[in-house]
Amino acid sequence: MCGIFGVYNNSESAKLTYLGLYALQHRGQESAGIISSNGKKFFSKLGMGQVSEIFNKDDLNYLRGSNSIGHVRYSTAGSTSLLNAQPLSIKFVGGNLAIAHNGNLCNAKKLRDKLEKEGSIFQTSSDSEVILHLLAKSKKKNIEEKIADALTKVEGAYSLLFILDKKIIAARDPYGFRPLCIGKLKKSYVVSSETCAFDIISAEYIRDIEPGEIVSFHNGKMRSIKFSQNKKRAYCIFEYIYFARPDSKVYGKSVYSIRKNLGKQLAKESDVGADCVISVPDSANVAAVGYAEQSKIPFQIGFIRNHYIGRTFIEPKQEIRDFGAKIKYNPVTETLKGKKIVVIDDSIVRGTTSRKLIRMLKHAGVKEIHHRISSPPIKCPCFYGIDTPRKSELIAANKSVEEIRKYIGVNTLHYLSIDGLVKATGMKKEDFCLACFNNCYPEKSPRKASNGKSC
Ligand code: AMP
Ligand code: SF4
Repeated sequence: MCGIFGVYNNSESAKLTYLGLYALQHRGQESAGIISSNGKKFFSKLGMGQVSEIFNKDDLNYLRGSNSIGHVRYSTAGSTSLLNAQPLSIKFVGGNLAIAHNGNLCNAKKLRDKLEKEGSIFQTSSDSEVILHLLAKSKKKNIEEKIADALTKVEGAYSLLFILDKKIIAARDPYGFRPLCIGKLKKSYVVSSETCAFDIISAEYIRDIEPGEIVSFHNGKMRSIKFSQNKKRAYCIFEYIYFARPDSKVYGKSVYSIRKNLGKQLAKESDVGADCVISVPDSANVAAVGYAEQSKIPFQIGFIRNHYIGRTFIEPKQEIRDFGAKIKYNPVTETLKGKKIVVIDDSIVRGTTSRKLIRMLKHAGVKEIHHRISSPPIKCPCFYGIDTPRKSELIAANKSVEEIRKYIGVNTLHYLSIDGLVKATGMKKEDFCLACFNNCYPEKSPRKASNGKSC
């Protein structure tokens, strides 16, 4: 999970990129970076932490030029270090080049081993660097063909932005795992992981970059090239469940509407009598609104979330039970005491968050807790850039729903069905990746790694 944003042909490109990254901050808080070009030279600023901590006014004045790309990182491949922060830049025969990548390559290790044997020297442990080496080695003539050549060798999820001295190029993998869309701001083009970043700079959403498409911005124009004829789609459905901001359009549809439908569908599948519906904020808020609307049970604020936790906090020596959850959430006793409640969360990964939150609710005097999850059980790992861990750490891969219910300590527990999830999107099942729920991986290497099925 990362976010990428680029601006072509605007005298304030770096400032706009900064604002775009600000709006994409939810997609990654580990590091961020911007690289701009004035046509001859690159200007770069990368740092660890959040966008607001990394860039100051002087940095944004230093980042000159009318083209820029930026990245916010959530590490899924490669270690946590400034060396792995993006955009990642190199010099090659074609001049300056940098890449910003959202997604994860499934055959990066194999390709990297091969490239290293052939003499390539890698600067980072990030899988994105493999793409730079492949395209630098390509014998094709122009940069768009070199990129296409490199991309036909990689497997996995990638939404990409490249910046060259005078161009910006965007590309999306043939399955379309991760979103990427184009917007327009007067004579400038903007590219973003999500449309919420267009709103902040008043850009207009034009369209998504198609799976298997390269879009090049050069000489004031936008040019499209198809590099794959693959017809099978595998849009990550988790974007609708958790990752994307509800005010974004993803895969051409409103995340808010779909997320609300997930809650409605969940109520249809598992309604229960209760005094109120609460959400685990903020990610489950919209699903909880949908659940409440469908079940006609009033929605209440049951947890207050502290939004101001820094990257480091100091835990007192005296042990505080559930400290990690308590610093983030506090239950509203007045809403909850003596009540029968429905608690909506978007997903259970390891089960640790739910267990702690439920304990806090009981401590606040709740009478009955009915836990409802607006996604199916996560049973398999994700190889496409999402931090869902090894199978051994996924609670639903190792316990039945009844065992999870007991572990979390709730009266009842229901997950949304896979069919209900797809139905709530209004899209076709074949167009989605559902691998973390059904073990069906669209490509060979993850299938092999997870003993999965083809789809
Ligand atoms: P866990 O405690 O591991 O069960 O985590 C579940 C919580 O993490 C849920 O409340 C989700 O909102 C959130 N979550 C789900 N997927 C992810 C992810 N890939 N990265 C970070 N948080 C996630
Ligand atoms: Fe998304 Fe799950 Fe597929 Fe990963 S495995 S891309 S999280 S649907």
